[in-house]
Amino acid sequence: MNKPNPFFSDGKLRIPTAEELGFDPSEMRARYDYERDRRLRGDGYTQYQNIDGDLERYNEDPHITSKIDRAPVTEDIDIAVLGGGFGGMLMAARLQEAGITNFRIIERAGDFGGTWYWNRYPGAQCDVESYIYLPLLDETGYMPKLKYSFQPEIYEHAQRIGHHFDLYSRSYFQTQVRELRWDDAAARWIVTTDREDCIRARHVVISSGSLNRPKLPGIPGIRDFKGHTFHTSRWDYDYTGGSAVGNLDKLGDKRVAIIGTGATAIQSIPHLGAAAKQLYVFQRTPSSVDERRNRATDPDWYKSLQPGWQQDRNDNFTKLLVGVAVEEDLVNDGWTELFKSLGELMDGTGSSNLTVAELKLLGEIVDYQHDNRVRARIDDTVKDKATAEALKHWYRPWCKRPCFNDDYLPTFNRPGVKLVDTGGKGVDRLTEKGVMVDGVEYEVDCIIFATGFEVSRATYTRQAAMEVIGRNGETLGNYWAKGMRTYHGLMSHGFPNLYHMGFTQTGYTPNFTYQLDKQAQHLAKYFNDVQQRGLKALEPTLKAEEDYLALVLAPTAMTDYLASCTPGYYNAEGSAKSENDGFLQGHYPEGGLKFYEMLAEWRAKGDYAGLTVR
Ligand code: NDP
Repeated sequence: MNKPNPFFSDGKLRIPTAEELGFDPSEMRARYDYERDRRLRGDGYTQYQNIDGDLERYNEDPHITSKIDRAPVTEDIDIAVLGGGFGGMLMAARLQEAGITNFRIIERAGDFGGTWYWNRYPGAQCDVESYIYLPLLDETGYMPKLKYSFQPEIYEHAQRIGHHFDLYSRSYFQTQVRELRWDDAAARWIVTTDREDCIRARHVVISSGSLNRPKLPGIPGIRDFKGHTFHTSRWDYDYTGGSAVGNLDKLGDKRVAIIGTGATAIQSIPHLGAAAKQLYVFQRTPSSVDERRNRATDPDWYKSLQPGWQQDRNDNFTKLLVGVAVEEDLVNDGWTELFKSLGELMDGTGSSNLTVAELKLLGEIVDYQHDNRVRARIDDTVKDKATAEALKHWYRPWCKRPCFNDDYLPTFNRPGVKLVDTGGKGVDRLTEKGVMVDGVEYEVDCIIFATGFEVSRATYTRQAAMEVIGRNGETLGNYWAKGMRTYHGLMSHGFPNLYHMGFTQTGYTPNFTYQLDKQAQHLAKYFNDVQQRGLKALEPTLKAEEDYLALVLAPTAMTDYLASCTPGYYNAEGSAKSENDGFLQGHYPEGGLKFYEMLAEWRAKGDYAGLTVR
């Protein structure tokens, strides 16, 4: 028998009283607004210090042990794929399946892996279930060890894909593309690199990553500190000892500061806390940290899976997250829980019976219930009451990346670990000896910046460290200066045969590799067709691009949601006038599933609607 639903009586919505709920939604809203307002600042993204000039050392590759020695290459190819992370690798794998082999992957790093090549900080782990996150499991026959994989396994899987699809022989590593220039007469891109290569490619696919260029806090004194410093995405194991699994054995006599408490910091702090003589955690905004609930993979279950299972599981996850009813929640974790809670609360009444305001209120209540549960974990775990209070987040779950970790909170019970909460202001400055907050100087030997990555899309080509010069001599940096402009999230007017992968006004779902694979599958089928028809150049019309922009930039339910959020990169550090100024800069309004259905229908029609073709 179904339990009675306190939110409905006789099929009509009845919001329980504050007493019944255990909290007052309007008081909660006021607290969230207060916490947002005290963090709002006028300088948005410009508050950060970009890594330029002498700070470029924070961006160097610490993982390359020897430089690849090779002569410059001059060649003509069908497709150049920029980036050897999962996006570029999926593109290459799907091209092979489509029978296209005349391609190259060009990658700045020393190996495949992208994010998982660079981010080897201790404790690095993927928050999305391995069975849906690790790409091409069906194809490679690999069984992940755990429900949530750690970095070494994910990085190894990237190499597995590289070998399985023979991608190593088709890739240039330690090679930075400097410029893409369209040669209209030849209908080719001229790709030049820091190795003096000149590669002439009919098509170019850019999958250079959206969180790849580290950034530093824009505080005074960054250059004054005399101790050791590095960014989490370029972890210095020579200094700390240990590896991505921890055991930072060189920190036993060190006083360490970590600045930032985002998803990266949450995973590395338990290892720093266990190893350092003294750890100071400098917090501006707490993360929401829920249970990890990790477990080993059951080999019998894994063996029982039928071909196509990974796609089905991914579709099931994506459906749940866009509100499509499913018979069973296959992934069944912290991501799907929130969406199920709202469904359960509506309990068969169906959203169509509710007004927009009622739906909004229900969504808010579900979020508050969830947040209260996450905050209660802190009181249950952290012994010092002031520290416990300071670790509580006061914003809704999708305002910032939700975190899942079982070791983070107990770390604050260690005698050598101190949380320095900056009350939403951030650290004031660095000095020769350490970190200043509210007039107190914390002397340390090492400062670790867990301060994230550049995200403004106006700097897309800057993030990729190259320039793109299109058909009319205009640069992509200039064309996108006021925000991204795409057709189908993939192409831009004036830039023929150039395709973007990732969060570029496409259909959103939190499982990034699902998106990348869907984009790769679409593009591979498209390239196959383009080749069979002998087409040389394809580019969206301005009208098609503008119509698509109107669709993806129209306000959605997320507009109000993000405006109510504490600052972060999702809402352009609180400076967003609309959701489109934030990280996504527009997304397909009907979500991930419908977006890829739309692309498949577009392809099936075969008329290249919206493109000029020659
Ligand atoms: P974030 O940008 O999420 O976090 C940066 C942190 O630095 C925030 O806590 C921020 O505070 C803090 N900060 C910035 N300036 C200051 C300052 N002046 N003083 C004190 N603190 C400051 O970067 P991360 O590297 O943590 O994560 C980036 C993204 O990478 C995540 O959002 C996620 O998408 C991805 N990721 C995914 C993981 C996974 O499991 N798949 C794991 C790790 C990362 P404030 O919040 O106030 O801005």
